[in-house]
Amino acid sequence: MRTLISAKDIEDPLRGGGAPKSLPADAILTPSARDLLRDIENRQSKGAGSTSASASPAQPVKTTSKSPATEIEAFFNSPAIQTLKEQICDIGRRLWQRAYVDGNGGNIAIRLGEDLVLCTPTLVSKGFMKPADLCLVDLEGNQVAGAKKRTSEILMHLQMMKRQPKAVATVHCHPPYATGFAVAGITPPTCMVPEFEVFCAVAVAPYRTPGTPEMGKLVADLVGEYNTILMANHGVVTWSHLGAEDAYFKMEILEAYCRTVLVASQLGKPVGTMTPGQLQDLLKIKQGMGMPDPRYGLKECELCDNDEWRPGVTCAVPAKEVPAMAYDAETEATVQAITDQILARTTNQ
Ligand SMILES: [Zn+2]
Repeated sequence: MRTLISAKDIEDPLRGGGAPKSLPADAILTPSARDLLRDIENRQSKGAGSTSASASPAQPVKTTSKSPATEIEAFFNSPAIQTLKEQICDIGRRLWQRAYVDGNGGNIAIRLGEDLVLCTPTLVSKGFMKPADLCLVDLEGNQVAGAKKRTSEILMHLQMMKRQPKAVATVHCHPPYATGFAVAGITPPTCMVPEFEVFCAVAVAPYRTPGTPEMGKLVADLVGEYNTILMANHGVVTWSHLGAEDAYFKMEILEAYCRTVLVASQLGKPVGTMTPGQLQDLLKIKQGMGMPDPRYGLKECELCDNDEWRPGVTCAVPAKEVPAMAYDAETEATVQAITDQILARTTNQ
């Protein structure tokens, strides 16, 4: 079996002062492991010393919704939160430039510590937000800081964060190709593009009025196994365990994928798909990166089922038929016995 190597597997011996361990020739590298190896090579060629490849984690947040108002206000205006506000504005601009949002649609949220969430305001275009427009709410949606009123859709983001504690950031928008799938109620088919398989796990939530607790619940029901949720007749919401940038990346990856699938399906030839074995390799990388996917542990033949996209095309390997044979023989005998009885009764009348 091929070994999966993550960035951690490479970093650990380095921390102890050792050399990068030699890797099996057929090892599967996660994308971050590949980047790290490239960094090490670059550093070695330049003769540099440091081995730290990732940014230092943010300070743990001590302020909660129960803290004194002055402390909450100071926290909301601190340099660390200012950086996150700028990040949200930057992502908002990218959502707007890519036409993933329309009017004042879309919203972004970042969890801060135990029960505080930084989020976008209502009635402001995501393309033109300023850091001073952002809002701070508790996990129930009560606003605790910020001059503008928080988005009404924050309740859905909060329900997702409460149900999925790993969700440190959420992004919601209306990208046209992915929303097209959501309007048609079709889960995008799988096994076509590696990035999509590794970074997104997609499900469709039924339609309910946006901003209602009912809508939030239907989405929250899916966040255990999926990080990219199509909301029927509405749009998409993603969550990430890494941050807002990663939640936004999922949106770009999903939208590019839906567009590619639509183009591929119109070119007059059956679309090519990777094999279940090839998908299995990608799922190992995905699991190593800590992302959810309902396909972990499935049999290979079940991995590339695309029932909604190509009805009738399911498992690549035929289902086991042994129990069905035994059952059929018995059923046939019973049917025969009943038929005989009916016939006998009819002839005797
Ligand atoms: Zn929306």
